[in-house]
Amino acid sequence: MDFTRIRRFTYIINTVILLLVLGLAGFFFLCKAPVLIWFSIPTLLVYVIGYILIFKDRLDIYVRLVYFWITLYMCLCTFCLGYKIGFHLYCLSMIPIIFYTEYMADKIGKKKINAFVVSGIIAICYLLCTGYAGFNGPLYDVDNAIAGAFWAFNSVIVIAFLVFYSRLMLSLIGDYENQLKKTALVDRLTGLYNRHYMMTKLESVIAENNPLFITMIDIDDFKKINDRYGHNAGDYVLINVARIMQEVCKDCSVSRWGGEEFLILTFKPLEEGISLIEELRSRIDSEDFIFGGEHIKVTITAGVSDYTSGTSVDKWVSAADDNLYKGKKNGKNQVVR
Ligand code: GH3
Ligand code: MG
Ligand code: MG
Repeated sequence: MDFTRIRRFTYIINTVILLLVLGLAGFFFLCKAPVLIWFSIPTLLVYVIGYILIFKDRLDIYVRLVYFWITLYMCLCTFCLGYKIGFHLYCLSMIPIIFYTEYMADKIGKKKINAFVVSGIIAICYLLCTGYAGFNGPLYDVDNAIAGAFWAFNSVIVIAFLVFYSRLMLSLIGDYENQLKKTALVDRLTGLYNRHYMMTKLESVIAENNPLFITMIDIDDFKKINDRYGHNAGDYVLINVARIMQEVCKDCSVSRWGGEEFLILTFKPLEEGISLIEELRSRIDSEDFIFGGEHIKVTITAGVSDYTSGTSVDKWVSAADDNLYKGKKNGKNQVVR
C-alpha cells in the first residue's frame, strides 16, 4: 500500500469514527448521561483536527492522538455507563490496529509507535475502568434493554473491525509474498522466469516420467547488435525475442538463462518438439525488428537435448549446450539435436 492509499484509507476511518461519535452522542442523550454528552464536543473536535493532520501528512501525530482519545473515551464510557454496554470491548479491537500501524509506519519510513508499550497501557486502562465499574457500579443507570442493544451493537462493531484487520493483514502478507516470489524468480527485463526458477523446475520434472526435452537458445552475434545499434536496441531485441518465444512455445516453460541465452523446457516427444523449435527459429529469422527507425536482423541458434532417465540436470543442460555450440560452429541460425 503506498502513502496516498494509506492517506485515503485514513480519511475513511476518520469519517467512520466521526459518524460513530455523533451517533453515540445521541445515545448518551437517551441515557441521560450529561458527562458523556459534554465529552462528545471535544471528541468531535479531535476528529475534525484529525482531518487537518491527515491533510498535512502528520499521520504520526494523528495516530497518537486518536489512540489516546479512543482509550480515554472508552474508559469514561465504562466509568459512566458500566461494562454491560460493551464499550470496553474496543480495547480488543485496538490492539491489532496498533500492531498494524507500527508495521505500516516502518514500511513507509514514518516515526514508529511502540505497539507493545501502547497495548500495555490500553490493557491497564481496560482493567482499571472495568474493575471500577464492576466494584462500584456505573455513574448512571442504563435501562437493561438499551444496555443490551448497545452491548450487541458494540460487539458487532468490534468483531467487524477484528475481521477486517485480520483480512487486511493476510492480504498484505499475500501481496508481499507474491512480490518477493516475482523478484526472486522472474527476470525483470523480459518478464520470463529466471535461471534459478528453471533449475528448480528441471530438478522437479525429471522425477516425473513425462516425455521432456530442453532447448538452449542463444541470439547470434548479439554483441554486434549492441555495438551497432546501442544497448537499448539490444534490450529491445531481448524483450521481443522473449515475447515471440512465449507466443510460439505456449505449453512450454521459457526462461532467460542469462545474457542473451534462453532455456526452454518442452513437455513433448523430441520429434514433435523439434518442429516447434524450428518454427521459433524461422519466426525470429523472418521478424522485422525495428528500433529507432533501424531494421535489425536477428537470428538464433538452438541446441536440443531430450531427457534420458538417470541423467543429472547439469549433464542434461550441458548436452543442450554442446549442441548449441555445434550450431554456432556450423554457421549459426539453426537447430541442432
Ligand atoms: P554468438 O553468436 O557467438 O553468440 O556471439 P554473441 O555476440 O551473441 O555472444 P557474446 O557472448 O560475445 O556476446 C553477448 C553479449 O550480450 C555481450 C553482452 O554485453 C550482451 N548482453 C548480455 N546481457 C545483456 C542485456 O541484458 N542487455 C543487452 N543489451 N546486452 C546484453
Ligand atoms: Mg551467449
Ligand atoms: Mg550470442
